[in-house]
Amino acid sequence: MPELPEVETLRKYLEETSLHQKITGFSAVDAKRQITMPLDEFRQGIVGRKMVKTTRIGKHLLVTLDNGNVLSLHFGMTGDLHYYRIPEDAPRFERATFFFDSGFKLAFVDSRKFGRIGLWESKTVYKTAKKLGPDALDISEAELKKNLRKRKSPLKPALLDQKILAGIGNWLVDEILFQAKLHPEIIAAELTDPELQNLLQAMQNVLQISIEKEAIYRELPVSFLIHSREWDESPHPEKDAHKNCPRCKTEIIRTVVGGRATYLCPQCQPT
Ligand SMILES: [Zn+2]
Repeated sequence: MPELPEVETLRKYLEETSLHQKITGFSAVDAKRQITMPLDEFRQGIVGRKMVKTTRIGKHLLVTLDNGNVLSLHFGMTGDLHYYRIPEDAPRFERATFFFDSGFKLAFVDSRKFGRIGLWESKTVYKTAKKLGPDALDISEAELKKNLRKRKSPLKPALLDQKILAGIGNWLVDEILFQAKLHPEIIAAELTDPELQNLLQAMQNVLQISIEKEAIYRELPVSFLIHSREWDESPHPEKDAHKNCPRCKTEIIRTVVGGRATYLCPQCQPT
């Protein structure tokens, strides 16, 4: 699933390819499913406009048009973007296409079809409609403290709640808690100030490094827990299991917290 680092990479891709060109058309394979409003209305809202600015809240990519309206792109499970000109370069699973007056096209690629495209009056309207908290990369210590102090739940599900902060998915939260040396089941509201500062610093670090590596996870530092995860798509799950902590060499535990597969080091992350 595209997480914050992938969406940040897609944001930069759209920014570098598609801005300041007049949109001349739009098509969608299954508009009822993919577009959050009637296709005619959506087309009317974007044709003749230019994309002028990109922003991101968590896993949501927002593109401001030259009339101030905002296009939303959510990538679901498998969404991606591909900018091209000649039909031979059209990607597989192209589900929707923006046509530009330059002759280029921006394709929304999505094999599993969970991606969604919409048009909104402003970023604020979108944020409110989707009940999104502050972006995980931008959230301040004060905001994080305020949002977590309200939660009597374990820390991991609190951090996955997009209302508390937007953009953290399952592997990211495990990585952040491992780097911050915090157990996923400590109560969110009971975090001390130094624990909160560690958490914020680990979050910014993990996100920044993942973005620098353009979300190519095998290139992440060896000090990351991610290399000890047993990915569903791993060709050798038995061989890859039971890896040890990159810090203290204790065997990594796989457990379930808040219904989600969770990896942690019992030595580095005590309860
Ligand atoms: Zn350890």
